[in-house]
Amino acid sequence: MLKEFDCIVIGGGIAGISASYFLSSDFRVLVLEMEQLPGYHATGRSAATYTAFWSNKLIRSVALGSREFLVNPPKGFSEVPVAEKKGALYFSELSDADLMSAKYENLQTYIPSLELLRGAAILEKSPMLGEQFLGAAAWEPDAFEIDVHNLLSGYLKGAKENGTIIRLNSKVANLERKLGRWEVTTDEDTFYAATIINAAGAWAGEIGRLAGASDITISPRRRTVITFDAPEAGDITRWPISLEINGKFYFKGDAGRVLATACDETPWHPCDVQPEELDIAITAQEVEKYTRMEVNRVAQSWAGLRTFTPNHQPVVDYDPALSGFVWLVGQGGWGVLTSPALGRCCAGVVSGRGIPSDLMDLGCDAAGLAIDQLKACN
Ligand SMILES: Cc1cc2nc3c(=O)[nH]c(=O)nc-3n(C[C@H](O)[C@H](O)[C@H](O)COP(=O)(O)OP(=O)(O)OC[C@H]3O[C@@H](n4cnc5c(N)ncnc54)[C@H](O)[C@@H]3O)c2cc1C
Repeated sequence: MLKEFDCIVIGGGIAGISASYFLSSDFRVLVLEMEQLPGYHATGRSAATYTAFWSNKLIRSVALGSREFLVNPPKGFSEVPVAEKKGALYFSELSDADLMSAKYENLQTYIPSLELLRGAAILEKSPMLGEQFLGAAAWEPDAFEIDVHNLLSGYLKGAKENGTIIRLNSKVANLERKLGRWEVTTDEDTFYAATIINAAGAWAGEIGRLAGASDITISPRRRTVITFDAPEAGDITRWPISLEINGKFYFKGDAGRVLATACDETPWHPCDVQPEELDIAITAQEVEKYTRMEVNRVAQSWAGLRTFTPNHQPVVDYDPALSGFVWLVGQGGWGVLTSPALGRCCAGVVSGRGIPSDLMDLGCDAAGLAIDQLKACN
């Protein structure tokens, strides 16, 4: 079996697998994933939504720069569409009307299709929204649902076709830089590469410490999601995702049921995180506050870890303290939708070609993704 690679990617979530896809045309890549399946952690637990409605310039730029890939993936990437257009509705209470107008004015420049809706027009898009939210809402018609399974499978297929090797059940236990290359040890094997890509999600801080890298604070936060039976009236399959403007709550149709979250952000440790009873109960209560629905029975619940850097922006950069160690971390609540752009940025950083020019035109640059950005925050 091959032991020598150009790049070893640690983590088989959407970040690591998308990076491998883009790296694999130039490099011999090995992905090491500790679970039996890729995408088992945050990637498999997301709300699977694409929106470009981000006030943060960097996140917006990588969202906008990912759109085309998700809507029109390369030929042969996936046999079924990865994106299903549903739209996103950002609603607010009357007391937040100024904030809604300000965000709408600001983001309309980047999302020309954005509309400001009022009253009945809001209810038409999101029939179950509570009456107190019918003042004004921003409507993003081009937002869509992402088929995360097919997106991940497409990246995997493409990477493998280019020779990438994916090793599951392979937890990285040790990392050492020896004689100008990395020695990476799992329970069963040792591999070598010039470059390590740390795409370990919530575990990225642990991988950094194993390698002796710069001390970056990586903060996983637990978020709880419930699903419940939809009310009989209305065609739930057409519902857009409806999000409170301050990020306190959202709901949408999901596989015949309603999916909702109260957007909890509990600081947590890296693990196979499970939902807490209290968070499930709070989420069910919030459904009644924000919508005209009741939760009679929670059909399903799960929790996932959204992982942040101190400035709440992703980092895609070589560690200044270590040779050949790249951080691909801090994808927060947007790691699936930004994976095409961040994967390309990672390949650009590793190859030395830098950030792709189309992404630079949208406002994403190496400085924004650099570890140096965190100095003021750490
Ligand atoms: C409830 C919820 C809703 C979300 N909604 C959205 C959304 O609508 N849209 C969106 O774009 N994003 C959303 N996100 C965010 C998105 O899911 C994450 O940003 C993204 O999945 C992060 O991907 P990742 O590959 O960095 O992490 P992960 O998927 O967690 O992958 C990291 C991998 O590293 C592996 N690993 C860790 N340590 C080791 C080791 N020592 N050796 C080998 N492997 C290791 C882990 O097993 C894991 O598979 C949501 C997240 C949550 C929790």
